[in-house]
Amino acid sequence: MFTLPDLPYGYDSLEPFIDEVTMHLHHDKHHLAYIDNLNKAFQNLPLAKEEIDRWMAMDVKEILQKLDEVPEEIRMKVRNNAGGHANHSFFWKIMSPPKEGISLTAPTPTGDLEKAIDKKFGSFVSFQEKFSNAGLGRFGSGWIWLTPELEILDTPNQDTPLMEGKKAILGLDVWEHAYYILYKWQRAEYIKAWWNVVNWNKVEEYFLASK
Ligand code: MN
Repeated sequence: MFTLPDLPYGYDSLEPFIDEVTMHLHHDKHHLAYIDNLNKAFQNLPLAKEEIDRWMAMDVKEILQKLDEVPEEIRMKVRNNAGGHANHSFFWKIMSPPKEGISLTAPTPTGDLEKAIDKKFGSFVSFQEKFSNAGLGRFGSGWIWLTPELEILDTPNQDTPLMEGKKAILGLDVWEHAYYILYKWQRAEYIKAWWNVVNWNKVEEYFLASK
């Protein structure tokens, strides 16, 4: 069985940049729906119980790396819902509450990650601009990613770099459900605000762990 992980902070902790109502709907409804649909997809398969149990005991990231082995009749369902589960589990972790009093200055990476970003993009601001533009450029629903090699990727729907055997150290959800309540149609405003809640310590941890 796949289960919903708790948020690593309170639902109102990302305020004022991401509101409490959005966090409740995003985590308790949208993320949970991906998990419920993923469980149902496997449970309803006309396969031996052991085979179903084998899939359901697997790490969701492992499933996404071997989608071609998933029974064809549920492959698309699994791609969307295992993707949704993995992506959101990751997304909650790479955010953290904004530091009080410095809300006018968004946090920035430090240490080796800062150096690597400067080397690759010239400056943090230039990286931020490229990443934000990728978010604005994604037509419809999807995600923007940064890989350990500092490559910016852009995937539709709930697709993930894991499906191509790649990893992510940072990810931005640009589905409307992530921002519509507070920012309405203004994805640019959401992305601008989102930089204030990026957990760079976590991103650097993923960056260093990938070496
Ligand atoms: Mn989402």
